Amino acid sequence: MTPSRATEIAVLSQGRAAVFEEPIGPAGVRVRERPRTKPGPGSVAIAIKAASINHLDLFLAHGAQRVTPPQVIAADGAGVVEASADSSWRPGDEVVVYPVVCDWECEWCRSGQNVKCPRFGVIGEHSDGTACELLHVDARNVFPKPKALSWEEAAAFPLTFLTAWRMLTTRARLQPGEKVLVVGASAGVAVAAIRIAKHLGARVFATSRSEAKRKRAVEIGAEAAFDSTDFSKAVREATGGGVDVVFEHVGPATLGESMRSVVLGGRVVLCGSTSGVKAEITMPRLFWGQIDLLGSTMGNADEFRAVLSAMEKGLKPVVDSVYPLSDVVGALKRLDAAEQFGKVVLSLS
Ligand SMILES: [Zn+2]
Repeated sequence: MTPSRATEIAVLSQGRAAVFEEPIGPAGVRVRERPRTKPGPGSVAIAIKAASINHLDLFLAHGAQRVTPPQVIAADGAGVVEASADSSWRPGDEVVVYPVVCDWECEWCRSGQNVKCPRFGVIGEHSDGTACELLHVDARNVFPKPKALSWEEAAAFPLTFLTAWRMLTTRARLQPGEKVLVVGASAGVAVAAIRIAKHLGARVFATSRSEAKRKRAVEIGAEAAFDSTDFSKAVREATGGGVDVVFEHVGPATLGESMRSVVLGGRVVLCGSTSGVKAEITMPRLFWGQIDLLGSTMGNADEFRAVLSAMEKGLKPVVDSVYPLSDVVGALKRLDAAEQFGKVVLSLS
């Protein structure tokens, strides 16, 4: 153990980095050079090999998050330890970053409930981000890279797989053999949900507006995929009455149909609302249907560990495309146009 740890949350992005400078969309994120320093007490300096972007970075670029520029973007990163002020890590270790910001010291953090930390946040939103050549981060945020994954894959999974894992396991208590519907199947988190649900032995169904993406959803593990318009009827028919769990991140545009897609006592678990912030709920459906409506964000360090262990047993992310750091604008534009299936990755090597 290192004797004195900074209680400050110190995530520092150094070297060449993708910096959010102006809330004007993708073009407001620019590559800049930042000074390099040695890691402070308790911190590890990681030479980032690959980072990946999320919808969060796009919201940030458009000025929709309360983040004051300049700030380096991205929550997901994988790389090689360059220097460590903590004895748990050595130069040359191949690692991935647990994408949560927390103080690690409060009662919640010490009891393993990082998501309840009063300082809880997301790397790249509540601190500097991973889209940089050298990242300083608390040693407790550093985990071994799953050996079976490439650098691009290792950078592609942390935020989405952590989020989807907690939603399906801790929150929705998905059991082998149960049926799960993943709404809006092309988003990074939804692709993670399809892969995880399948890995856990569930029967997976999906929805997407795009025929090409419905086809991809089936290729990566869904039994069937339906058009997004009024999907509940098709889901009930295909599943003989509905699914046990609906995985939601779209919100107002789909929530009504999602609640019509579950069996009596079904669970609808949500981690986002990309179609708006307020939704109308048909109340009798909620209580007559005995429905559990479950909110979830990110996940605890133990849940991250569980994802890593599943990755060693064959669970894999889906990389949509890889862009060099110098073309971070192109990467953000691909997300903005909703063209992707799976994760958009930035390569730093
Ligand atoms: Zn805490």
